[in-house]
Amino acid sequence: MSAPLAELKARLLEINDLGAAAAVLHWDQATYMPAGGAEARGRQMATLGRLAHEKSIAPEIGRLLDALERETAGRSPEDDDAALVRIVRREYERARRVPPDFVAQMSEHAALSYQAWTAARPADDFLRMRPLLERTVELSRRYADFFPDCATAADPHIDASDPGMTAATVRALFSDLRARLVPLVRAITARPPADDACLRQHAPEAEQLAFGQRVIERYGFDFARGRQDKTHHPFMMKFSLGDVRITTRVREDDLTDALFSTLHECGHALYEQGIRRDLEGSPLAEGASAGVHESQSRLWENLVGRSLPFWEHFYPRLQAAFPAQLGAVPLDTFHRAINRVARSLIRTDADEVTYNLHVMLRFDFELDLLEGRLAVRDLPEAWRARMQTDLGVTPPDDRDGVLQDVHWFAGPVGGQFQGYTLGNLMSAQFYAAAVRARPDIPADMARGEFGALHGWLRENVYQHGAKFTPAELVERATGAPMGIEPYLDYLWRKYQPLYGLEPGELSRSAPL
Ligand code: ZN
Repeated sequence: MSAPLAELKARLLEINDLGAAAAVLHWDQATYMPAGGAEARGRQMATLGRLAHEKSIAPEIGRLLDALERETAGRSPEDDDAALVRIVRREYERARRVPPDFVAQMSEHAALSYQAWTAARPADDFLRMRPLLERTVELSRRYADFFPDCATAADPHIDASDPGMTAATVRALFSDLRARLVPLVRAITARPPADDACLRQHAPEAEQLAFGQRVIERYGFDFARGRQDKTHHPFMMKFSLGDVRITTRVREDDLTDALFSTLHECGHALYEQGIRRDLEGSPLAEGASAGVHESQSRLWENLVGRSLPFWEHFYPRLQAAFPAQLGAVPLDTFHRAINRVARSLIRTDADEVTYNLHVMLRFDFELDLLEGRLAVRDLPEAWRARMQTDLGVTPPDDRDGVLQDVHWFAGPVGGQFQGYTLGNLMSAQFYAAAVRARPDIPADMARGEFGALHGWLRENVYQHGAKFTPAELVERATGAPMGIEPYLDYLWRKYQPLYGLEPGELSRSAPL
């Protein structure tokens, strides 16, 4: 290894260690920390964050990158060191463009805004959040000013979570998707909704947790390199490739809420646990983007965890765990219940078919706010109108309308939501490619075996970490650029029989 490469890697390892230490503090805060620790914990995490930021914009890193770009010029895209240099350059330039004062201003404002939101949402008090959100929009625009070559203010925000994507590319993808989804939602919701009463029964926490644990063991979650704990808002967090943690929450009046949350976070964790171990401690040992990460949580939660073959194996076992609740409920009824499609107010509770409409609404509003077409004061009304148009429901208040998601009240406006839908699109595209390569996957699932699917994903997606761009990764793994057809095809094959849809009725639906 050349001297500049060794020095760069040593510096990156230090930055990585500071980030991992902050992650431990964050995980502890969200799981076991008593309330009295909050103030000091905030300061401790800010200190670690500042040290890591200072180290990541050190001019020495720029000099090392200059030398290493000459050294790795012309190497193949397969080359680890060339990929490392490309990623570190990208992050270095991004971090250096934004003055530390401005970064501090933004995070101070985000903390203030988040604090206010925790009280304003339960109180349904948008007026309290209005000046704070106006300031967030202003700061989000000013952030974009540090990237004068961007086409629109949303682009630097989008690029930060989904590298290579722009407002224009996402908008084109979403408008095609929306045009196809709205008629599908109309067709399904014109029929009687599935009965999901069997899920709304008392189910003790211990049995729920034990069942989820058994499923993710079958998925291949490595408990020697991870664990699961309880929290309010479930998340996955990695301290190192040997320690990848997930969290879940349990509602005792809902039989499957904890299970699907566990399967979702397990999908994120399988990605991280599958990254090549020799990339440990470097920026390559990360997921390729927010969207690719979400593709794995959604794949294991929905494409696998809500499929009929999966439940052919697991339903008798779930019935054995909850005989009084499910003993008399046929598999078909249960399967329809967990795949119920309904017009609803809350994104995080939405089914697979309507979910993306919630995301697109937020994505469009981010662009409207940043580009000045929509004022913050008009946002609640615009939200109600668009919910009515797209989903056929109007939120009765702002609590379950514009105030429902934390994102805009704890971070910038811009780039916050597109990853969820990109993840859904990619989940179906990866899954279809896996089944093409290994046609035995659905039959395996019906026997509770996931080795072929997990192996294909590890080989084609997980092991590479962030080495390839999301676009490269999708094209390499699936043989095609990211698109909407595999996802629409998946929805149709699944929901057509569930709701008895006729092929002709989608085209007969009123155009948008
Ligand atoms: Zn997720």
